[in-house]
Amino acid sequence: MQDVKFYLENEAVTVEIGQKLAKVARPPLTLYLTGDLGAGKTTLSRGLIQALGHQGAVKSPTYTLVEPYELPGVEVYHFDLYRLSDPEELEFMGIRDYFSENSLCIVEWPDRGEGLLPPADLHLHLAYSGNGRELNVHAGSAAGQAVIEHLSQ
Ligand code: ADP
Ligand code: MG
Repeated sequence: MQDVKFYLENEAVTVEIGQKLAKVARPPLTLYLTGDLGAGKTTLSRGLIQALGHQGAVKSPTYTLVEPYELPGVEVYHFDLYRLSDPEELEFMGIRDYFSENSLCIVEWPDRGEGLLPPADLHLHLAYSGNGRELNVHAGSAAGQAVIEHLSQ
């Protein structure tokens, strides 16, 4: 499976990638979002979650670890594990139950929960590049690969 790269010139293009993902991402699906602080993980998540039907703001659930969205035909769980200090917190919150047949899970800072999260169908990595961002998309499963194929069309 080949990774796909995109250059995202500005914030609007990051949002657009999220919108494109919304067209093809269907549960069950697990997305990992990695990259430095300010790389655009939440911006991309916002594009995706709003395009799936959420009206209103999308903020990183930095203190609550997870923000649920009940959207038409899909349950979305947006995780931000940046502040996770003790991986046991994930056990306490019943992390496994979020990853179900009906859910689309978006995980920022998945490395903080290593060993306790299911593997990613899609791993999106954002990096600062000039005035914009470079996005690398890696498929971890056949479902993820199918999404990549649609994204690059
Ligand atoms: P993260 O969740 O990775 O910490 P955020 O999405 O919260 O990052 O913040 C990203 C910041 O970078 C925002 O200020 C946003 O406007 C900006 N940004 C997002 N995408 C781009 C881009 N492609 N080019 C330039 N700036 C971007
Ligand atoms: Mg964030």
